[in-house]
Amino acid sequence: QVAAAASTLTGPGQTSDGYGVKLLANVGSAKNVPSADEAHAEGIGLFRTELLFLDRAQEPTMDEQVAAYRDVFTAMAGRRVVIRTLDAGADKPLPFLNQDGEPNPALGVRGLRVARQRPDVLTTQLAAIAEARSQTGADVWVMAPMVSTLAEATGFAAAVRDAGLPKAGVMIEVPAAALRAADLLRVVDFLSIGTNDLSQYTFAADRMCGDLADLLDPWQPALLQLIGVCGEAGRAAGKPVGVCGEAAADPLLAPVLVGLGVTSLSMSPRAIGPVRAALAARTEADCRRLAELAVAAPDADGARRASS
Ligand code: PEP
Ligand code: MG
Repeated sequence: QVAAAASTLTGPGQTSDGYGVKLLANVGSAKNVPSADEAHAEGIGLFRTELLFLDRAQEPTMDEQVAAYRDVFTAMAGRRVVIRTLDAGADKPLPFLNQDGEPNPALGVRGLRVARQRPDVLTTQLAAIAEARSQTGADVWVMAPMVSTLAEATGFAAAVRDAGLPKAGVMIEVPAAALRAADLLRVVDFLSIGTNDLSQYTFAADRMCGDLADLLDPWQPALLQLIGVCGEAGRAAGKPVGVCGEAAADPLLAPVLVGLGVTSLSMSPRAIGPVRAALAARTEADCRRLAELAVAAPDADGARRASS
């Protein structure tokens, strides 16, 4: 019993009846890996690569990129690392991409869309990731931000394969992509739902706007319904569907996400312990029931109350 209690605190994520849900950490560099380790993260579910590119007049060189990726891959030896390709634009403008002057940057050339104008930036980054992987033998999965269509997912998966990388995925941050999740899963190996942007684009509410917090509430039934579309597509395809936005860090919401079909939760390391404990207190059937109640609720407060 003591061992069981300890594993609820530090072991792999699972419901009380043993349904596994990977608990992963969001990191921006190797500096964040110790806190992921302290939280007993099972891997990295979102390695944001923007840090290396920010505040630079020039793109970082291939060697600089290889070194930065290798640091994280080495520190996470033997565990999964989901690395996201550059998410530039909108709230993360980069000088070397000359993106000034877009009238509406959140709806402009951001995330994977940058590759329309600068395919070389993506190709170099994928080559650097492949090189760092080959030097470390890490379990590296690669995903693209801000994907909207099957054509974009197909192009990205081909670029990942061309670089010699084994696992390609896309983030679900745009309602169009969520609605077509089943299509996307025909061409990629996994999906990762970015609830911060998926909320922003579903509710047409700037994610930085505190006055619109009620619209950006991750318990909004419309958001949960879109997550459910992705989860169902994942179950049907037998492929992983994760959540890596802030929603994954809410212990009350975690069982609901699992009930919607989400197979991994990635969050800032300090949230992992409470989420692990919350999942251990529910069966898989509880999770499915709570998910149904949340989606059927008339509003976010009603959805939250159905789980309390
Ligand atoms: C998200 O949009 O939920 C996400 C995880 O990506 P970021 O917060 O970096 O945009
Ligand atoms: Mg995002």
